[in-house]
Amino acid sequence: MIKRLMVSLFILSLFGVRVNYAQDFENVEMTVHPVSGNVLYIAGRGGNIGLLHGEDGILLIDDQYAPLTEKIIKAVNSISSQPIRYIINTHMHPDHTGGNENFGRLGAMIVGHENVRSQMAKAGYSQTPPFVTFSQDVTFHVNQETVHVFKVPNAHTNNDSFIKFVSANTIHTGDVYRSESYPYIDINNGGSFLGTIAAYELLIEASDQNTKIIPGHGGVTNIQRVVKATRMLQVIRDRVQNLINDDLTLEGVLSRNVTQEYNAEWDSGRRIGGAVGLVTAAYRDLIE
Ligand SMILES: [Zn+2]
Repeated sequence: MIKRLMVSLFILSLFGVRVNYAQDFENVEMTVHPVSGNVLYIAGRGGNIGLLHGEDGILLIDDQYAPLTEKIIKAVNSISSQPIRYIINTHMHPDHTGGNENFGRLGAMIVGHENVRSQMAKAGYSQTPPFVTFSQDVTFHVNQETVHVFKVPNAHTNNDSFIKFVSANTIHTGDVYRSESYPYIDINNGGSFLGTIAAYELLIEASDQNTKIIPGHGGVTNIQRVVKATRMLQVIRDRVQNLINDDLTLEGVLSRNVTQEYNAEWDSGRRIGGAVGLVTAAYRDLIE
């Protein structure tokens, strides 16, 4: 009897979690933000969805979570009635790839770097990986636009790409760049602090003063802010290196507050986008 009651409670709690989970997504609102020409982005929950529209059909960058597919389609339809033909995954994380299965069934080609596929398998993800992959870069010629997708050094993960819309002079950075916090470096999935600096340098090289930058999370930004963030990471790198040279342990380095003057502007205070994670990733790279 007690056992049965416990099982029932367990099932109820599972059910409860499911209900909350569903309601959680029910309350998500999609907002559409024009960026440049035919390029926009949609914010909902999870990574910003880049969007290119035109007579050749819709190209999306990332697709958030599976329960949000209908809302995403609604938002897309408010811009264009063309079919969703291509989805590019910036990287593996579930808030960027969760809709892959749904959109794939609806006929979209899901494209990503080959490491997105292999790392999703390695990490045991249940989301559907991209089924068209590339090793260096790939270019789409659609809607009078050139869409260049290229792998960047291991940064947020080991499978990050930038997507450049050449005519619209716009770059979607995935989660390599976040406009409202420190970068989050997922070291369990091959992310790298030094690689993040290298990827920022690549982003600066690929941009000019007018380039619009769509980050993985946060509002559209510009290259001046990325330059500022790069300088900050270089300062943090040098400070951590000096402390390592003085034989400090990770704990010792963390106690020195090497990010102090940047925290008010960049520290999320959380696991994702926080100072502790950033300094830990820097230490791990530099101690090697
Ligand atoms: Zn991510």
